[in-house]
Amino acid sequence: MESKSDSLIAYNVLEKKIINSGFCTLCGACEAACPVSAIQVNGEKVHRLHDCSKDLDLCPICYAVCPHSEALLLRSLSFVSDAPIKNEALGYYRKIVLAQATDPKLREQSHGGAVVTSLLTYGIEKKVFDSAIVSQAEPENPAKPKPAVALVPDDILSAIGSKFFPSSVAKAYGSAVYGYGKTKIAFVGVPCNVLALRKMEAWQHKISGSMKITIGLFCFGTFSLTPLLEHITKTYKIRPSDIKQMRLSSKFVVQTENEVIRIPLSDIESHIMPSCRTCTDFTSELADISVGGAYPLKDWSTVIIRTKAGEDFFYDAVENGVINTWVIEQEPEVMERVMVAAMQKRNTALKEAKKMEEAYGFLPVLLLRESNALARTKVEDVMTKNIKTVPEDITVSQFLDLIGKYHHIAYPVIDKAGEPIGIATLEEAAKVEQDKRKDTPVKKITRRELITAHPGDTALDAFKKMEKHEVGRVLVLDPANPKNLLGMITKTDLMHILTNNVENT
Ligand SMILES: Cc1cc2nc3c(=O)[nH]c(=O)nc-3n(C[C@H](O)[C@H](O)[C@H](O)COP(=O)(O)OP(=O)(O)OC[C@H]3O[C@@H](n4cnc5c(N)ncnc54)[C@H](O)[C@@H]3O)c2cc1C
Ligand code: SF4
Ligand code: SF4
Ligand code: SF4
Repeated sequence: MESKSDSLIAYNVLEKKIINSGFCTLCGACEAACPVSAIQVNGEKVHRLHDCSKDLDLCPICYAVCPHSEALLLRSLSFVSDAPIKNEALGYYRKIVLAQATDPKLREQSHGGAVVTSLLTYGIEKKVFDSAIVSQAEPENPAKPKPAVALVPDDILSAIGSKFFPSSVAKAYGSAVYGYGKTKIAFVGVPCNVLALRKMEAWQHKISGSMKITIGLFCFGTFSLTPLLEHITKTYKIRPSDIKQMRLSSKFVVQTENEVIRIPLSDIESHIMPSCRTCTDFTSELADISVGGAYPLKDWSTVIIRTKAGEDFFYDAVENGVINTWVIEQEPEVMERVMVAAMQKRNTALKEAKKMEEAYGFLPVLLLRESNALARTKVEDVMTKNIKTVPEDITVSQFLDLIGKYHHIAYPVIDKAGEPIGIATLEEAAKVEQDKRKDTPVKKITRRELITAHPGDTALDAFKKMEKHEVGRVLVLDPANPKNLLGMITKTDLMHILTNNVENT
């Protein structure tokens, strides 16, 4: 049980639920947001500099802005939820494109499309923003990210490439406002970093007004720095100071001056930060613009544009010749990989969270359970109508082409009489080996169990069915004619109800 002082002074809850439970990812939002400078994130730890309860009777801030607390999640979602497309795997968005820096040298340095570096450099040069929060490399330990306030293009260039350890970018954001007096800041971070900034915005914290644009990176997880480096030193005889670069492909690639070693991910999996195991966000769903790899294409990035501000800025850079774009629908394999990775991360995290629910029951989707809004909403008011169905005889290849074209990850499958027989999903299709996809009919991968609702049921009824059967969607049938498919409702539709409910309160 929490004592009275626990609930009045947020630090006590933050310490107990997040820091001491191993869920902190060192973003530094608590330090940036604390009104009395009582917190410092330093040396892979959060330190309490003084006991704030001596100065204050009540303060909820540090727990509210921490990305791993249940607070402010739905309000944070409302920053992107006016986007026209909502997708179970990728969140809300306006457009998805492939993109790359037009400068080949940048692409070589980044081992990707160098889209982030090009956008930031363009934004600084054109004075769209006055600074950018980036993660450079510590000179004496190059694997370690060094969060920094970039003021000129060279600062941005020296942060190119991914570092697979936590970076205290929200702390650097605080320094940009308080230390440098910056008022138009571009922010780059992994999904939990972006969530921390969105929470500050939802809280209307005074420093959040200086945020100009958020660029989120795709993220499978980060590693605990010291334990992983110790493991690499012990097993592969490489000292941290000798590491020049780390990269992620099918293996974890560690490069020194003299050698390149490729470590199987299974060998280092145990060093992934505990929070990452219950993290559902792969594509930085709350960013203005999200950027990730475009495997199997080299030199390209996948860009998800979510907000109007993101769209205007991105296409301004494209029109000015800084970025090339390409149509993602022409590269269905890229789209498939991104959506499969996002769904796998979400499903694995939800399973893990379910196991931990007692201690940690506040992930966005788990939160659905607690809302009255679902009980007040009828399925017919939120279901997607006129949904696309697929005939049982099309091949898995054709099915994947449809996914690439329409971006939905699941479709009802109908038999020759036009009656629904089940649901086929991207995840099941992706499990069919490449060379067998042209000969495998979609009925072979169709989940035959029909989980259904009627238009007059409540959204809460639909949610309970999703939970019971461990599915992300329910088909809506006509009660007068159960063979007549009227629509479909997904977990994303349920999140939409909650977001609107929050916006209207
Ligand atoms: C921890 C981590 C895990 C990732 N996992 C995946 C994945 O599984 N699949 C996938 O497709 N993409 C993943 N990405 C994203 C991918 O590695 C690239 O960052 C992204 O595609 C942008 O590429 P770019 O060439 O446009 O970026 P660049 O132009 O090279 O710029 C990279 C930017 O990332 C910032 N940055 C680097 N490391 C960090 C960090 N630790 N925290 C915050 N900011 C950082 C730098 O400030 C820099 O501005 C991950 C990135 C990180 C940091
Ligand atoms: S004063 Fe600072 S440390 Fe204390 S509860 Fe508030 S934000 Fe947390
Ligand atoms: S706000 Fe960031 S640094 Fe502070 S406890 Fe939460 S994850 Fe850790
Ligand atoms: S997996 Fe989630 S919690 Fe872990 S670093 Fe990435 S965004 Fe943060």
